[in-house]
Amino acid sequence: MDITVSRRAVLGTGVGLSAGLVVGAPAGAAAPAAAGTNAAGATPEAVAIVGCTVIDVTGGPPRQDMTVLARGDRITALGPSRGVRVPTGAAVVDGRGRYVIPGLTDMHVHSSGVDTLDPPLYVVNGVTTVREMSGYPTLHEWRQRVTDGTLLGPRSVIASPLIDGSPSLWTGLGAPYVEVADAAQARAAVRQVAADGADFVKVYSRLSRESFAAIADESARLGLEFAGHCPDDVPVTVAAEHGQRSFEHVFTTWYATSRHEDEIRRELSRLTVEAGDYNGWLHRVHPLELAAARGYDPRRAARVFARLRAADAHQTPTLAMHRVLDLPGSVDQDDPRLRYIPAEVRAVWDFAMREIYLDGRTPREQAEHQELFGHRGRFVGALHRAGVPLLAGTDTGTSYVYPGFSLHDELELLVRAGLPPLRALQAATRDPARFLGLGSGTVRQGAAADLVVLDADPLADIRNTRHIHAVVVRGQLITAERRDAILDAVAAAAGTATPVPVRAACRC
Ligand SMILES: [Zn+2]
Repeated sequence: MDITVSRRAVLGTGVGLSAGLVVGAPAGAAAPAAAGTNAAGATPEAVAIVGCTVIDVTGGPPRQDMTVLARGDRITALGPSRGVRVPTGAAVVDGRGRYVIPGLTDMHVHSSGVDTLDPPLYVVNGVTTVREMSGYPTLHEWRQRVTDGTLLGPRSVIASPLIDGSPSLWTGLGAPYVEVADAAQARAAVRQVAADGADFVKVYSRLSRESFAAIADESARLGLEFAGHCPDDVPVTVAAEHGQRSFEHVFTTWYATSRHEDEIRRELSRLTVEAGDYNGWLHRVHPLELAAARGYDPRRAARVFARLRAADAHQTPTLAMHRVLDLPGSVDQDDPRLRYIPAEVRAVWDFAMREIYLDGRTPREQAEHQELFGHRGRFVGALHRAGVPLLAGTDTGTSYVYPGFSLHDELELLVRAGLPPLRALQAATRDPARFLGLGSGTVRQGAAADLVVLDADPLADIRNTRHIHAVVVRGQLITAERRDAILDAVAAAAGTATPVPVRAACRC
């Protein structure tokens, strides 16, 4: 498959499930920064949210009529309003009738590389931290600019380029990936990504058992964590016991919970995919995924879940992404959020939908995908009840998964899967902060000043996380007015993008 996705430089790239299609221009050649998006703005002396109800997500009861004070990037005071003095010059947010929660984390994103798109959309949606699941240089530049205050964006933790087996699913698709054929190459790849500054190693589906074990060992030697897909040929429990910290998309976990596991594993070990044939891989794992779902065995699942819990292995279900790919009919082509998406990004989304995800899907397979989506939800409910740690992540970068906005969809899907609203919030706040080792994820004195002020109670209805009044990111207040201005600027920047024709040569 020969794909030309953009005449602009494609910096690094991948398409969804999960590498993220990057359409950003090289540094310095990005679309002109629109007012309100890139300017980080002056940070006031202090920010005070007065008279609010605080939901600190620790599980304690919400506390009413509280005042939260932030200075610099820390919460410096928190208490009943009558006892907290608001300093002169502080920017004051009227918190009466409003709810304050910790800033949200999206634990699975692939930002596009367009700096007028993802960073501002995360922030206005209350997403104050992201875990970038396929690293490339632009993301490191963004992080520096966010730190310097020249780009308004979330905190970020950045993966290595994905490390895949040989041949890789990503050959020729334009994504930043490293292909390793054996243990020696796997060790060399880990040393390279460590030298390049990756925060953790991203492992991928086609790694052999030997290469995977070598990555685990070399990562441990260098003090790096590794996370990502569970390789096809490695059982999830084995990967967890090798130290894989998080497993994305969940279906590789349910292979192990099926009474057909032995046959499925045999098929997986025999499975071959040609270089770059992502679509072919999806077609080949589909029946195995389905057989595993249909053979779900609660007793096996209980044993698998206990081992995952013991290994502190986290699961990132990315239901927002699966809804798009399992139920493509649910995608609204008139979604109002499309006004924020540049034509070149949307062209890539449509291309990936057509050529990678849906090409060759039969009506029967489509019906099976509907069934699988139901299983995903039930499986996430079972993981939750078994106490397996869950992380909220969207797989933003996949077609029709919107930066920032889709995290709220993920929260809603997690609640539909059976998580109480508080538990879903924890999967996007407390647990990612703990997982990433960040001093955020709650609302207390000394914690990071990453906060979201909501107009309605998210514990009463998780969909209320969408009713955002204001956001505080690294101590910087984004008022309701500024949010509106940023959103308008993102839409304006999207409108100025030149549509780029997408051409896919036939596979011959
Ligand atoms: Zn992904």
